[in-house]
Amino acid sequence: MRARTDDRPAAIPAVRRARPRLAVSSCLVGEPVRYNAGHSRHRFLADRLDAFVDWVPVCPEMELGLGAPRTPLRIVSGDGGDRLVARDGTADHTGPAAALAERRSADLPDLDGWVLKSRSPSCGPRGVQRHHRGGMPADRRGAGVFAARLAELRPLLPIEEDGRLNDPVLRDHFLARIFAHARLRALFADGWSPRDLVDFHSAHKLQMLAHDPEGYRRTGRIVAGAGSRPPAGLERDYRAAFAGAFAARPTRGRHVNALQHVFAPMSRRLDDARRRDVAEVIAAYGRGDVPLQVPLTLLRHHARGEDIAYLDAQTYFEPYPRELA
Ligand code: SF4
Repeated sequence: MRARTDDRPAAIPAVRRARPRLAVSSCLVGEPVRYNAGHSRHRFLADRLDAFVDWVPVCPEMELGLGAPRTPLRIVSGDGGDRLVARDGTADHTGPAAALAERRSADLPDLDGWVLKSRSPSCGPRGVQRHHRGGMPADRRGAGVFAARLAELRPLLPIEEDGRLNDPVLRDHFLARIFAHARLRALFADGWSPRDLVDFHSAHKLQMLAHDPEGYRRTGRIVAGAGSRPPAGLERDYRAAFAGAFAARPTRGRHVNALQHVFAPMSRRLDDARRRDVAEVIAAYGRGDVPLQVPLTLLRHHARGEDIAYLDAQTYFEPYPRELA
């Protein structure tokens, strides 16, 4: 995308409102596409996330023309690798399923993530039941054929399965990634200036420090080239480095480091009692005594009270809509 060269203010507020565009296994959002013509509606996706994202439902088995109801499929492992075959042995869909993943990946370049149905021989990203050629169960180390090809083609795309979204830590990470992706996509969707990129990067500093401090430094070196490099190459490199940084899951220690970065510029403005309060709350979070939201809320309160605009603009305080927290 073309870069702007004028010096108008960065479009960060509009970027902030970006809605993630998510592909999803169709059965998870209630479409009756399973082999038995049923669905696997996922409550969090369909009832809560639905209001904040734009879905692109994809059912590989329907797109292969198998219809619903249909003969169930399974993964059969053998010398030639994993095959996606009809359970009654009448058809092998391995090649068409992999080719479909290639087509859908190419058709949908502007995604911010993909939610796949766990345990499916087509969609399951991991832990899928494999069978011996005779039909006996082998192990649960397979991946759906469509999902496996997709992961090869889109290594930087946040891809998650429904079951893991029931884990609060994994869900938090996935939400942080897809909303960060959406903001970056919005930034680059229109003409952008080096100043826009600097502001965008600055607004994500603390969030990136919590995910991957080295990734933050790597992206910073790319931003330093804004204005002196051709924009297309800069955009490509920043996209990859930004996605790579957010792929790392935050740790408690990295959060403590990020919180200290919030605290440092405000500490001299606070009186002793408030400074001690903040330091104690960060330490309590570091010990695991209080949730992250406790120091974050206190620090944001002080950032606003002291009118520290740089801090108040940080995505770290609200990486995705609070209704989803
Ligand atoms: S798991 Fe995948 S292939 Fe199976 S019904 Fe759902 S979307 Fe279709």
